[in-house]
Amino acid sequence: MQAVRDFLSSFMLTELLKGMRLTGRYFFARKITLQYPEEKTPMSPRFRGLHALRRYPNGEERCIACKLCEAVCPAMAITIESDVRDDGSRRTTRYDIDLTKCIFCGFCEESCPVDSIVETHIHEYHGEKRGDLYFTKEMLLAVGDRYEADIAKAREADARFR
Ligand code: SF4
Ligand code: SF4
Repeated sequence: MQAVRDFLSSFMLTELLKGMRLTGRYFFARKITLQYPEEKTPMSPRFRGLHALRRYPNGEERCIACKLCEAVCPAMAITIESDVRDDGSRRTTRYDIDLTKCIFCGFCEESCPVDSIVETHIHEYHGEKRGDLYFTKEMLLAVGDRYEADIAKAREADARFR
């Protein structure tokens, strides 16, 4: 009996008609596709994107080379070398993040005592070869310099949630 039903069903093209009915329903429904990049979906305030190293308003870099971020990083993506400056303060001579290793967990940001290393909301970046995603201290500071206003605003909003 089932075989007869299956035969009749395929003879009458019922599966095809069901599929066309579904297609027709979505054809006239309100479209949910966004025209990226002109249109964008909302982003969570807690989104973790490209890293940045921040400076104080007087231009001094915040990082004090405590290496907490390097120690806490589960992916071992951060490499830091440091030295003592002439004024006796300790600063990094090398601060690299290998974004091909990074899992964007945010631990580095959480661990930093001076709000130096942060993860911005920037997600529109890419590399065409592996080395392009190896961010040096200069590159991270440049990201921080460029987006400091946005970073400060996001940090303020974030503090309100805590
Ligand atoms: S976000 Fe996580 S994995 Fe990436 S550098 Fe920071 S601590 Fe390491
Ligand atoms: S970024 Fe923050 S946690 Fe990492 S070495 Fe600098 S001061 Fe320490």
